[in-house]
Amino acid sequence: MGMPQKSRSVKKSQREAGLFGEAYERESRLLPLIGEQKDIRYYSTSAKSILNGPETTGMGFWSINPYVGCAFGCAYCYARYTHRYVMQRASDNERMENALANRYEEMPPWLAFERNIFVKQNAPDILAKTLRQGSDKYLSLLKGEAIVIGTATDPYQPAERRFRVTRRILEVLAEHPGLKVVIISKSPLITRDIDVLSRINRHSDLSIHISLITLDRDLARKLEPRSPTPEARIRGLARLREAGIDAGINCMPVLPGITDNPSDLEALVKRVSEVGATYVGACALRLRSTAKQRYMPFIMKEFPHLEERYRNTYGNDSNAGSKYREGLTQFFHELCERYKVENWARVDDTNDEGDGALSAECSIPSLQLALPFPG
Ligand code: SF4
Repeated sequence: MGMPQKSRSVKKSQREAGLFGEAYERESRLLPLIGEQKDIRYYSTSAKSILNGPETTGMGFWSINPYVGCAFGCAYCYARYTHRYVMQRASDNERMENALANRYEEMPPWLAFERNIFVKQNAPDILAKTLRQGSDKYLSLLKGEAIVIGTATDPYQPAERRFRVTRRILEVLAEHPGLKVVIISKSPLITRDIDVLSRINRHSDLSIHISLITLDRDLARKLEPRSPTPEARIRGLARLREAGIDAGINCMPVLPGITDNPSDLEALVKRVSEVGATYVGACALRLRSTAKQRYMPFIMKEFPHLEERYRNTYGNDSNAGSKYREGLTQFFHELCERYKVENWARVDDTNDEGDGALSAECSIPSLQLALPFPG
């Protein structure tokens, strides 16, 4: 015997409209707005997984990014494309409230990356489940593969002051001895968490990379408009070292014709060595198409005399020439020896796969050394 006609149609309309009506169903799907700060809006998003494996990123390590989008707004940022995927998905799935949908329509994607930040509030819980003691993933991480936090957005951007997702992630990691953890950030806010970092440091291999490409405050303001000043980052580095935590700098990317003056780079390495940096990593700018869409108009506006040289170098390639990269390597190697920085690393991934992780910050080269500008 079939279902009575009326009851069948009620079920169908409930399914179609949802139990509480279409408006309610739609609203419950929307990404919740959880905060505003001047021109930045924060939305909560639920991550299904948080620990991205090397096979997903194409890089030789695991990565964690607690936020999508980054308010620091660096002109050379390579990671803007990650945000576009999230915006597109939210739009396709009708998860945008009106204001976000309007911003999606009106704002260029490079700016949306800086102004609409998605907060993975459930990330610490997901990580705790993934890394429960004895789980396959935890056991495989004990073999020495690194977890890098902050490969695509800064884990200590302003959002972290309020939402503390990075801190809660670190608290989970502190429960798991034997890991290898790397954190990349431009912000001295990381020193707020020295207590948790010290706990990780006791039982795991921890290393902090502070991103710093120039000591020039005005130039930094131009290139990285909302980032902490160079002095603030150096003070942060000093505090980490005083706490006995392994910490150094990522001088990435070296920007051709802008931050590659040899005496400036020397002053930078000297300064960080004075506060005990154990590591200096450097690489030339790498400019993939999404980064180019933001970076080239920036060059035309702020450094018009460099436009042609950049076009010659990066017109058909996302990497600087090998001669330039080798010169840069040699130069930093010598600086690290001169100022007794223990570890020097050239992060020079020219593989176009993956999210660009450590090389993320890498995007352009031109040593004003004895080297010609590439191209
Ligand atoms: S380069 Fe890093 S700090 Fe700068 S905007 Fe991109 S993710 Fe943020």
